[in-house]
Amino acid sequence: MARLAVERSHIAGAAVLAGLLASCAAGPQTPPVTSTPPPPVTQQPPAETGPITYKSSGNKDMDAWRASFSARALASGRDRTVVKSFLENISPIDLWLGSEVQAAATGISDQAEFAKPIWDYLKVPLGDSRVSTGTEKLQDEAGLFDRIEATYGVDRQVVAAIWGMETSFGAVIGNFDAPNTLANMAVEGRRKTLAENELLTLMKVVERGDATRQDLIAGWAGAMGQTQFMPSTYLAYGVDFDGDGKKDIWKSDADALASAANYLAQSGYARGQPWGVEVVVPPDYDYSLADGQERRLETWVATGVTPIAGGNFSTNGADYAELWLPAGADGPKYLLFHNFSVFKKYNNADSYAFAVGLSGDAFLGARGPVTAWPTQLAPLSVADIKLLQAGLNSKGYDAGVVDGIAGRKTKTALQGFQKDRGMVADGYPTKAMLAAVTGQDSATAAAAAASVD
Ligand code: CA
Repeated sequence: MARLAVERSHIAGAAVLAGLLASCAAGPQTPPVTSTPPPPVTQQPPAETGPITYKSSGNKDMDAWRASFSARALASGRDRTVVKSFLENISPIDLWLGSEVQAAATGISDQAEFAKPIWDYLKVPLGDSRVSTGTEKLQDEAGLFDRIEATYGVDRQVVAAIWGMETSFGAVIGNFDAPNTLANMAVEGRRKTLAENELLTLMKVVERGDATRQDLIAGWAGAMGQTQFMPSTYLAYGVDFDGDGKKDIWKSDADALASAANYLAQSGYARGQPWGVEVVVPPDYDYSLADGQERRLETWVATGVTPIAGGNFSTNGADYAELWLPAGADGPKYLLFHNFSVFKKYNNADSYAFAVGLSGDAFLGARGPVTAWPTQLAPLSVADIKLLQAGLNSKGYDAGVVDGIAGRKTKTALQGFQKDRGMVADGYPTKAMLAAVTGQDSATAAAAAASVD
């Protein structure tokens, strides 16, 4: 996964992230790392031994963590000069260590928070500004995209779509110092092991000379460059595509886009195959087949699934697909193929992968979906989804952890409930379904939901 921040597999995660990003944008910036460049690795003073001493960061938890982590980094073989350059100027960031983080962690805002409907999530990725810029980038950098397609076998509109999703085509790469924001993440504690491992990996990156200490600009969660790679992704998949000896995913379009293509290629991207095809199904279709299971394309055809554009499926060899209902039986319906799961390796959220696929297609002039979104179906609040999950669990349908995020497990549990009662088994959480599951009539449930709002 390229980005830590968006790994939750539901749109509600994006809403939480949006809140964090908003507070991130409003928060104080990280101070400059150093006013003078740290000495090159080749000038390290090997005679120096023992613990590195640091000035206080002004936060005693941070100082204590740093003393421990610095010793462990040295013991694991990391270069002393690099370790010092990473840790000597760390300082607390409000986003990570301020009081609002505690509020987010304890879920104080759950009552008012709504899961963002997918049609809202898609407004920016499919907006005129994103689509027109993407179309222009494909034209302006056609030579680069030609070389990337030829080298990595990844379709250009997909690389461009990820570029747009991650940083608006390199326009918004963040302004945090990666070592500092990862240090804050480690001190904050919930992702301590991940943050420490990413810091150690980033130290290796600088030791190898792939990037310099000053290059390490990141978003608030430590993802770096035009395609927002975590350090471990950068180390594994970053490439120097313009041949200047550095893997510069910050300032070189060629390096950034080739690195993203390399990551997609090594994640199994199949060139020329669709990520998904919008479909229509026969009346009274058994929507319980939209259960996350991949089935052969011929099996779907046998159940009456056809492309909404008409004609037969043309998938360039993609043979397995799942039926996906992003907004239930009343909304657009898709067969999702292998490449959709590749997008999710970049960022493990259906909504993200969907936006990549749709926006890439839009850059080529193919706007989707054709079917209107069921915007009349009001989204449930996080509190309502928790009630739904608890209700499903109590009736023996395993919705998993009651977390207010209606992910695939909740959907599958709801489908089981619906199917056993002869309902349309689309697994889409609505107020009517909340009422059915919790045993209230819909008016009572709606009143209860309104009072929660
Ligand atoms: Ca380069």
